[in-house]
This record gives sequence, C-alpha cells and structure tokens, in this order.
Amino acid sequence: MSQATILYIEDNLANRELIKRVLEVEGYQVVEAEDGATGLQRALECKPDLILMDINLPEIDGLTLTARLRQIEELQNVPIIALTANVMKGDRERTLAAGCDGYIRKPVDIDELPVQIARYLAGMRERI
Ligand code: MN
Repeated sequence: MSQATILYIEDNLANRELIKRVLEVEGYQVVEAEDGATGLQRALECKPDLILMDINLPEIDGLTLTARLRQIEELQNVPIIALTANVMKGDRERTLAAGCDGYIRKPVDIDELPVQIARYLAGMRERI
C-alpha cells in the first residue's frame, strides 16, 4: 500500500467522489480541490506526490493552472497528470505543452487508473 498523497483538482463532485474512493482503496491519500484557485492553494499546503488535473475547470482552466504550478519551484518535480475528455487531435500535445507529464482519458477506467497512477509515480512521462 502506498502512502503517496494525490491532489485531485476537479469541479465535478461525482468524479471527485469516484476517483477518491478508487485511489483510497489503493492506499493513497487524496486531497481534493473543486476549482483552480483552491487547487493552487492546496498544492502549496499539502506538497502532493502527484497532481491529477481536470482540464475543463471554471475560471482558471486546467492548462492555465498547470502552467502556473510549473512556475512554482517546490512543485517543479511533481508529476501533473491531465484528466480529460478532450481527446481530439492536438489535445494531447496541448496538454503536454502546458506542462503536464501525462494524461488519462475520461471516462476514467477505474480498473486501469491505479496502474496508470503507479506508473506516473514511478517516473513515467509522456513526451511530445
Ligand atoms: Mn470539469
């Protein structure tokens, strides 16, 4: 069981509850944020081992927030993984160009999610 802390920034309550439950079963500590401003604050407070970033967020979208988080020195090495339903051509490149290390498609496959998270925590990175 892992004690890693995962910050999940997501505006949809049902998604937050589902993903949190799946990750907690795996032994992860999950910190939630419902919008970008809260996500930024929690990222600084909880020093996460990994950030799961919804891209379609109100006010500050996930790509803008990722670019901001990437400018914060103590978060430079924290993997940021996009969770997105945007799977059109170019979306992957946009996500990685904004500073994400990888992405997971919505709807999330809850059987596959723990495997994907473990790989990213172990240092796997997508490349453009
Ligand atoms: Mn959303």
